[in-house]
Amino acid sequence: MSFIGKTALITGASRGIGRAIALELAKQGADIGINYVSNQEQAQSLSQEIQALGRKSILLPASVAQEEEVKRMFNSFVEAFGKLDILVCNAGIVRDNLILRMKAEDFMEVIRVNLIGTFLCMKEAGSLMLRNRYGRVVAVSSITGTLGNIGQANYAASKSGMIGLVKTFAQEFAKRDITANVVVPGLIETDMTNKLTAETKEKFLSCIPKKRMGTPEEVAKMVAFLCSEEAAYITGDTFSIAGGM
Ligand code: NAP
Repeated sequence: MSFIGKTALITGASRGIGRAIALELAKQGADIGINYVSNQEQAQSLSQEIQALGRKSILLPASVAQEEEVKRMFNSFVEAFGKLDILVCNAGIVRDNLILRMKAEDFMEVIRVNLIGTFLCMKEAGSLMLRNRYGRVVAVSSITGTLGNIGQANYAASKSGMIGLVKTFAQEFAKRDITANVVVPGLIETDMTNKLTAETKEKFLSCIPKKRMGTPEEVAKMVAFLCSEEAAYITGDTFSIAGGM
């Protein structure tokens, strides 16, 4: 696989899975747009790492949940790189609680960032990719979106919504060399899962045949393959990376 000459925008790239995806694509030759919402220090250090690999990178602070910010972000990306080849919709948040205790605002905020944010980015990317007659879109969903999980009704709804969204995008754009797929990670070591209690982690681990958490780098390898030229005939599909869970 080679991404030399390709440009990629990764949402939520400052930390965790998004950061690993940005580094994996940059190592293989892509120039990278680094989206984040608030964590400028980490985004800058990633940008330096990418430039040390000999690739170009730009910082794209924006909330994916805000339509105007998303439009500005894609405009800045195209001004800097001229075209968009790859979009990875990775930005995501949790606001966990049992349904009876969950505030409607916490439900809506998770839907806004995880699902509407993905839609807004895919809409902008779709129009650029049509012009480019090429595109690879990967959305990072979650095993919670396919199985549900106690305390995560908002997150589960957002992540299963992403699957329907990507399948539809894949069908609408299939005639051009544009693909869209979903990766479905299980339990991955990042800031998001560091917040889980030891008890919750144990509960998850007991359901994972591999008996360990996954790493962001392992998810990044799968995403990179789906972003490659070699994956041209794979579209509208979902791919688990969950240690057998
Ligand atoms: P993380 O470490 O918490 O990082 C979240 C990233 O999303 C950060 O870069 C954050 O930016 C960014 N972000 C948050 N809200 C945003 C917004 N409104 N606009 C733009 N960027 C925003 O999370 P992670 O564990 O790497 O998760 C990445 C993705 O994988 C998420 O979609 C998550 O749901 C999914 N996932 C994770 C796991 C897991 O076990 N970790 C499992 C399945 C799926 P700042 O740094 O600026 O805050």
